[in-house]
Amino acid sequence: PTATDRIVVVGGGQAGADFVAALRMAGHQGPVTLVGAEPGYPYARPPLSKAYLSGKATAEDLYIRPPAMYEQQGIDLRTGTRVTAIDRTARHVVLADGERLSYAHLVLATGGRARRLPAPGLDAAPNVHYLRTLADVAAMRHRFVPGARLAVVGGGYVGLEVAAVARQVGLDVTVLEALPRVLARVTAPQVSAFYQRVHTEEGVDIRVDTAVTGFAFASDGSVAAVELKSGERIDADLVLVGIGLVPDTELAEQAGLAVDNGIVVDEYCRTEDPAVLAIGDCTSHPCGEHGGRRRLESVPNASEQARVAAATVTGSLQPYTAIPWFWSDQYDVKLQTTGLSTGYDEVVIRGTTETGRSFAAFYLKDGLVRAADVVCSPRDFTAARKLVAARARVAPEALRDLSVPLKQLL
Ligand code: FAD
Repeated sequence: PTATDRIVVVGGGQAGADFVAALRMAGHQGPVTLVGAEPGYPYARPPLSKAYLSGKATAEDLYIRPPAMYEQQGIDLRTGTRVTAIDRTARHVVLADGERLSYAHLVLATGGRARRLPAPGLDAAPNVHYLRTLADVAAMRHRFVPGARLAVVGGGYVGLEVAAVARQVGLDVTVLEALPRVLARVTAPQVSAFYQRVHTEEGVDIRVDTAVTGFAFASDGSVAAVELKSGERIDADLVLVGIGLVPDTELAEQAGLAVDNGIVVDEYCRTEDPAVLAIGDCTSHPCGEHGGRRRLESVPNASEQARVAAATVTGSLQPYTAIPWFWSDQYDVKLQTTGLSTGYDEVVIRGTTETGRSFAAFYLKDGLVRAADVVCSPRDFTAARKLVAARARVAPEALRDLSVPLKQLL
């Protein structure tokens, strides 16, 4: 192998770290360089809003691979280093310090950044926080003290998980959601209602249909209160904004690659340039039988695309066919989802969302099980995954019948 066989990976997050490991597993022996803008070893983000924020996990617990792996596997790991440009004609990338790295294959695993709330003065406010990186947690953690008043803008998974941790630490928490329900884009109304009940039971003030119109600032520039459309003010010692992700696609765009809410790739993670692949949160990829394209933000998606891309680079094409799945932990409520619930025409609840903390919601389309959200039932989740994978046709009454184990429906 020579330097011109080098595979360069841009982005040392979940997808990048999984890719370099998968590449060696797939037998690639040539040089591999992983360039990551963040300092330190690649780490998993899910605990940032869960065990790490609550102090139950350390930064070392978050490492995606043991640090020794990179040296053992001969991975040239360059963290704290940003790629600033791609030259596709010359086949090299440019690093922030001007160094050029030539590549045979380039893999873009740039993920994304937290979407900012555009409001005057907000960017300079020291007590307004976003949550995407270890550095973000470091910036907010000292404000997580009992009695502090936290306003969460956005009732998505990140906002709700932070609310749960904050309650456990003893903060006063208000969640402000503009839509009529939390988790509106990702779950059925019944599941949203379940989460609203659980958070209310845990002492969170959940406000849906609540538009934030502005902020009141203290003399030091920090936010003192959140102003609502109703005219009400929510006093706050800190604000957490969780309103989604903006994929990091600028490098690809500047290099002339197609971008459409993500770097456009095919089912083998290839862009239109055969030498350039993209994986993880930054990609827009084919949706399989749903048709169209999608961009997913999940660890399983990043890992699966990493595996697919490693196969592509090593010359054994394996299409991405895995069924998406996801999890979320809030208090003692463990949610696991399988399949994509968009486009369903019927929701079937097994158990009840109105009391207790365990049930399953099945999403059906034309009578076929397309997706499921399972709360606190690993056994039902295992069966639900199989039902979704099989696109099983199951009568709603059978799904509802708690006396029939789900696996009997397979
Ligand atoms: P990232 O992990 O974002 O990594 C991209 C990396 O690329 C970053 O380190 C970035 O700095 C770097 N980079 C970008 N541009 C450049 C450049 N030009 N040069 C060098 N480096 C660059 N998923 C789940 O499945 N379950 C969960 O429970 C869950 N919880 C989450 C909780 C939180 C708080 C967050 C933030 C995410 C959560 N996710 C969860 C989503 C999951 O973490 C992401 O889907 C996953 O991290 C995506 O991996 P990625 O490698 O595509 O992107």
